[in-house]
Amino acid sequence: VVLGTHESSTDPRQLRAALAWLDDTPPMPDELLRTLSWAAGYYGHPIGEVLAAALPAALREGRTAMHAVQAHVAISSTGRDALSRNEPRAGSRLRALLEWVAQAPRSLLDIEHWRDGANASLHALRQRGWVQTHIVDAPDRAISTTVPEPGPALSGDQRNAANAITAQLDRFGVFLLEGVTGSGKTEVYLAAAERALAAGKQCLILVPEIGLTPQALQRYQARLGHSVHAFHSGLSDGARAATWLAIAEGNARVIVGTRSAVFAPARELGLIVVDEEHDASYKQQEGLRYHARDLAIMRAHALNLPIVLGSATPALETLANAQTGRYVHLELRERAGGARAPRVRMLDIRNQKLHEGLSQPLIEALRAVTARGEHALVFRNRRGYAPLLLCHACGWHAACPRCDATLTVHRGAQMLNCHHCGYRTRLPTHCPTCKSADLLSLGAGTERLETALTERLPGVRIVRIDRDTTRRRGAFDRLLDVPEGEGAVLIGTQMLAKGHDLPNLTLAAIVNVDEGLFAADVRGAERLAQLIIQVSGRAGRGRKPGEVLLQTHHPEHPLLRTLLTGGYRAFAAAELAERKALALPPYAHWAVLRAQAPRAEDALQFLDQARGLLTVDEALRVRGPMPAPMPKRAGLQRAQLLLEADTRAALHGALTPWLTQLYAQRGVRQVRWSLDVDPVDLY
Ligand code: ADP
Ligand code: ZN
Ligand code: ZN
Repeated sequence: VVLGTHESSTDPRQLRAALAWLDDTPPMPDELLRTLSWAAGYYGHPIGEVLAAALPAALREGRTAMHAVQAHVAISSTGRDALSRNEPRAGSRLRALLEWVAQAPRSLLDIEHWRDGANASLHALRQRGWVQTHIVDAPDRAISTTVPEPGPALSGDQRNAANAITAQLDRFGVFLLEGVTGSGKTEVYLAAAERALAAGKQCLILVPEIGLTPQALQRYQARLGHSVHAFHSGLSDGARAATWLAIAEGNARVIVGTRSAVFAPARELGLIVVDEEHDASYKQQEGLRYHARDLAIMRAHALNLPIVLGSATPALETLANAQTGRYVHLELRERAGGARAPRVRMLDIRNQKLHEGLSQPLIEALRAVTARGEHALVFRNRRGYAPLLLCHACGWHAACPRCDATLTVHRGAQMLNCHHCGYRTRLPTHCPTCKSADLLSLGAGTERLETALTERLPGVRIVRIDRDTTRRRGAFDRLLDVPEGEGAVLIGTQMLAKGHDLPNLTLAAIVNVDEGLFAADVRGAERLAQLIIQVSGRAGRGRKPGEVLLQTHHPEHPLLRTLLTGGYRAFAAAELAERKALALPPYAHWAVLRAQAPRAEDALQFLDQARGLLTVDEALRVRGPMPAPMPKRAGLQRAQLLLEADTRAALHGALTPWLTQLYAQRGVRQVRWSLDVDPVDLY
């Protein structure tokens, strides 16, 4: 990607020559290039890698943008005229290529492989108008429209929100749309998108990883009357490049995608929506560690357009920005269509007999719901059968040889798996140290809950939804496809907690709330509160009222009390006050320098040196080096250095010169390092 030439270079000696001219028009809009350059500075990441992250793989490999969509080059009528006039000169490279293309249309890939310099010759032929490029086999490229289906009449809150967002389609503004699940946020996105489309603009809608179901895409397509272009990492390279090009050329008007869709090269954007803006999947956790919501805001700013951040449980940093007035806070106060909020009840499980972690009252509630032909959701954020395999005779337990972590028992597959590095081994029948056959599976994952409930609720359909059961494409929707009127229990992980419309679901239960109460992470409380509200949001979306059950040993815990009496708002206010008192994000700005190496000393030594290079003042504090919370992972020892600053300016003022020095340092033995600005996890 050519960003500039020697005239604008501060150090021309570092430049390399361009070898080939791939695209006649820049495939990336100027604005995107500018935003990416900004991101390179902000995240302290090399611009080349930032651009690579933003380009589809097919283009990254040096193909022209057209290749990806099966472009064929054919001779034009003026080209035939030229040949008959004996042009280009016989024996020339141009002549040879034109004659070859005249025999039959050739794909760009064929031309590239024809001879050295073929691309330059092709360029010359194109400029003379002697060849034409045709696109074959690219159904996505046409703008197809249908008659939009009418939506429901908007409520007052919904209309106000849509009006506020679209009042000025050519002015930057961030709108936080807060509303419980089922309050009709999507209807607001649709209304705003309709207006942007009517004004001749493109719309970009970001959804969490799991939100891109055919069900959701269908809804956008039907209501907007434009073909919806799904853009996500699950597409094949070819499809991804084709979609990318359709977006760049303006043929795609509605783009719905996950994290990486924030790089969609749309030139005519009029609206950006970030649905479930609090969702952790928007943060990229390797390479360029960007936050798609934050980049989306930067793009909206660069393009002067409105951006909507929607959530029932906004991230605390987003709420803080709404409080200071940087974002416009819009609220949907009621559930749409008259659905009522579910009743939340704590199940105090102290001294209760538990069956694989399930209390009797919970099992009875599941029995009652399924007997009525309704659905229940049982949430457990752990896949597999049991998180620990222990020898009852000698105390041995199954640990990952490559990580500081235990191996999870997967009983159906008869395997022990590490959920951190992917290490797998067969489930042993005997203890490897003392040969005893008395091995205990401790704790219960989703697989075990499935077994337990199948035993206790005979005849009831039990459906497990986690990464083990949804590996295959479309499995998710098939699993959710339970016949109307048949009771069912859905057991699932995080996947189930997110944005699915399950109208017949009237009970949601969280098996183990306590785990979240004692998370060491700064965001532990925020995550738990979001989870409880999101899981609750699954229940009672239709006409029937819903109920939520939380199993806990700590019914008096302040977090649970605040959340249950005052809702997410009250929780967020309390949590923000605490963060402020402790100078934690969003009232401080963080960056983490991580290092990993086969030997812990090397990682720590690198971080020590890095710390020495840093200019520290009152506005910037440094903690560490310290081992990572999970020091060994995938065979490498990990450590980190935490930078805390009062302001973003203080943080970046220090980071920029520091990174230059770090990149200049020649390889400290086998140490790999990375910087994470605005980390969401210290892992
Ligand atoms: P959210 O995105 O906040 O979860 P949705 O927009 O998906 O909520 O709306 C939840 C349900 O309520 C959907 O079935 C939707 O069609 C319906 N709905 C939304 N707004 C209205 C309205 N104004 N009148 C009637 N039904 C509505
Ligand atoms: Zn043993
Ligand atoms: Zn491991």
